[in-house]
Formats: sequence, C-alpha cells, structure tokens
Amino acid sequence: MKNTVNYQNFVYDLCEWYRINQRTLPFRKTRDPYAIFVSELMLQQTQVDTMIDYYNRFMASFPTIEALANAPLESVLKAWEGLGYYRRAAYVHKTAQKIVSEYQGAFPNNYKDLLKLPGVGRYTAGAILSIAYMIPTPAIDGNVFRVITRLLMIDDDITTAKAYQKVEKELQLMLAYDNPSDFTQALMELGALVCLRQPKCQICPVKSHCFAYEHSCQLAFPNKPKAKTKNMESQIAFIYENNGMFLLSKRPQTGLLANMFEFPQFQTTSLTAAIQSFNKIYNTIIQDTVLLTEFKHLFTHKIWQIRVYKIKTEVPITDSLYRLNTLPYAMSKAHLKIKDLI
Ligand code: SF4
Repeated sequence: MKNTVNYQNFVYDLCEWYRINQRTLPFRKTRDPYAIFVSELMLQQTQVDTMIDYYNRFMASFPTIEALANAPLESVLKAWEGLGYYRRAAYVHKTAQKIVSEYQGAFPNNYKDLLKLPGVGRYTAGAILSIAYMIPTPAIDGNVFRVITRLLMIDDDITTAKAYQKVEKELQLMLAYDNPSDFTQALMELGALVCLRQPKCQICPVKSHCFAYEHSCQLAFPNKPKAKTKNMESQIAFIYENNGMFLLSKRPQTGLLANMFEFPQFQTTSLTAAIQSFNKIYNTIIQDTVLLTEFKHLFTHKIWQIRVYKIKTEVPITDSLYRLNTLPYAMSKAHLKIKDLI
C-alpha cells in the first residue's frame, strides 16, 4: 500500500528535529568523503557506540587516504582488530589504493564510479554523494528502510527489488525539500534513535505524517521474510605454547576472515581427526590435550561451535610462534576470545 504524505512538511519536521537533537558523532562533523566512507563501512554490522573509539583510532593512524593506501594490509587489519567482519577492512584498504592510483586521491562524485570501488554498494555511494558532496541521492540502509516503509505503509517484501525501488523513488522526491546532507543524516538518526524495531512513536517528530502510526500497525513494517536458520559448524582449536610464545596460523587470502591470524583450528567434531590434521601440518605428534573451554561464535550466516584444547607435542614446534601481547597481526574476534583465556 502506498499512501500520500506531504513531503515538504515531513522533511521540514524531520530536519528541524535533527538540527536540534542530533548526536555529536565525530564522523558527522565532516564532509570529507574519506572519513564518511570509513565510518559507513565501520557502521555496517557494528553499533555506533562500539565503533566510535575504533573510528577515532583508525583516523588517527590513517588520517588521509594516502596514509591508508601506503600502509601494509596487516597494519590496517590490526587497526580493525575487534570490530569483526574483517573483509570490510580489506575493502577500505583496497579502495584507498584505487582512489590514490586512479583518481588522484579524490573520491569520485558520481554514482557509477563510486559503485566500482571495493566495498561500496548503493547505500555507501548514496551516503558519500548526499553527505559529502550534497548531491541528492538516496542512501537506503535497514534503518531508512524501516522508517520509509512505516511512513508510507509500503508492504512489499523488503528483500525484493520492487520494495527497494519504491523506497528509492519516494526518497528521491523527499530529497528536493532540504539539503541532502542534513536530510540523509536526519533519516538515519530517526531510524537509529526513534523509529527502532520497537518504535518510540510518542516522541517521534514525524508521527503526524506516519500512516503506520495512524493505523497502529508499525510493527508490521518492514515486511521481512522469516530468517533462515544458521548453519552450525563444529571447530576444534589448539593452543600450543613454547617458552611464552604461541603457535598461530594465517587464514587464506580469500573467504571468511581472510588474512586473519588464529590458533590452529580444524572444522570437525572429532578430536582424533583434528589431531591427525595438526600432526601432518606441523610434522609432530600431539601427546597430550586438555579441554580449556567450549563456546559459540556467531556470524551472520553461520555459527561456529568451538572446542579449545591446550596441547603438548613430542617434537617441539619452533616456527610460526608469536608473543600474544605484541602481536603484529590482527586476530579474528573468535580467536581474540581464546587469547583472553590465556
Ligand atoms: S510514528 Fe512511529 S512508526 Fe512512524 S516514523 Fe515515527 S517512530 Fe516510526
């Protein structure tokens, strides 16, 4: 169902509220597309409160796009350590290198070229164009989707192109009524602070325009299909220590947690199979195992059920050993939890 809202009045009420009530966020004080790009990638899958410290530290380490482009990937991953979803860090790094080598260090100011950059999808491109360059371009993330589908009672399945196109079309019309930077950020802010999954309609500055509120059916929007159940994978991780140093392995360059460091880990339910694989790779024989802990680690699409064993070997291992307090490389979030046990 599509309803009619007076967009001029809606945008006025929304932006007035935003100008008075917006949070003080470091990445909202700037129009620098590089800073906006970094912040938007960090905010994917991460709450604002969690990411602010990471953002400040990251920008202090790599204050310019050239500094980031010239840094080794390991130090970028290290700066991202703990934020999770490390592919984002690799994208940020690759994009910085591309901007420096192909665009003389300046982010493109058009949708087509932005979408060619690693890690830049329609949402991030829209955010850069509207916030940094003031070009009226919809930036549609989950929060914005929620607000607009409720406002207009758009009931299409949100995973379909049709739903996206409807929201995009309406946003394009709304963008005509205020500056694109404030409007885009105001919508994001409303979705983050007021129009939550459990909406705070009583304090909403645009409730007089909202059809879902009028019809008391806010929770029916957005129309999401039921989530698929996540795959459970059994993993066994081994902690091997030699003179205060620990054995670590590096994950492959592509795929889940690419390039991250971790304690040797094997996807299996069988301790015997994990021991055999370890012995083969490290050319030794595990002679003792002690179960330290077992925990679940959640990804968006799967769950790792990890059993962690401390091991001793017949033949000491001398390669790939690291001191954990001065690790030069980034570890995945799951293995940072294991590190904390030691
Ligand atoms: S009135 Fe409620 S449902 Fe409508 S936009 Fe505001 S918070 Fe969201």
